[in-house]
Amino acid sequence: KVEISHLTKYYGANRVLDDVSLTVEPGEVVSIVGPSGSGKSTLLRTINHLETFDAGSVTVDGRYIGYERRGDTLHELREAEVLKRRAQVGLVFQNFNLFPNLTARENITIAPVSLKRLSQVEADQRAMALLQRVGLHDSEKYPAQLSGGQQQRVAIARALALDPKVLLFDEPTSALDPELVAEVLDVIRDLATVGTTLIIVTHEIGFAREVSDRVVFVEDGRIIEIGPPEQVLRNPINPRTRDFIGRVL
Ligand code: ATP
Ligand code: MG
Repeated sequence: KVEISHLTKYYGANRVLDDVSLTVEPGEVVSIVGPSGSGKSTLLRTINHLETFDAGSVTVDGRYIGYERRGDTLHELREAEVLKRRAQVGLVFQNFNLFPNLTARENITIAPVSLKRLSQVEADQRAMALLQRVGLHDSEKYPAQLSGGQQQRVAIARALALDPKVLLFDEPTSALDPELVAEVLDVIRDLATVGTTLIIVTHEIGFAREVSDRVVFVEDGRIIEIGPPEQVLRNPINPRTRDFIGRVL
């Protein structure tokens, strides 16, 4: 369970997250939509502690990812401890962010091996199973030898390698050629079907409507509307949501 409570974050004087509260239950699929610059990526990066925040809190199954509480205040944890806790939250980026000098298999095994979760042999076996699951059959190719859709599927396999409690997607198909979008959405749909907890930032409104339990509309760092997809994406209550949906559909 992901609990985001009264989260506020500034970049300098710019308040990019403004009192954001959202609880995502185990097995739930939540999509986040909203205009460019509204804070969607920042929100995901904050959940993963790639970004710090200024007020509020984020916990995954009751634990802070980048902080520990001492008395009334949160203190940032040491990097090694952050890395361990961050393993609970997988993040898939728009631009795949694979290690270019590692093969598909090595991209998947590096984290579980370096965190001493698995031996190299165990990690290799798991990587092969994960690659099969995302429909990739050549484990020894380097990222540059793979299509964008294949690279993104390796990135999803890599994110799954640490058995995260929740998987975050930041516009996972927006860097792909149109004909490669479906193969990545198929993998995400499969994850949703088997009960993986997902938070997906996406411009694919049709896909969000299909897979989401709830949809969040964000504008200017605030949650403007949240509800089932039929409401937020088809029949929004808030006029600003209606305006946005009208423009993107
Ligand atoms: P998009 O749909 O274009 O990806 P977004 O909703 O993901 O947009 P963010 O990338 O979270 O938006 O950005 C939110 C705000 O924070 C924007 O005003 C952006 O300019 C600002 N911002 C993002 N990253 C930084 C940074 N590293 N330093 C300063 N300002 C930043
Ligand atoms: Mg973004």
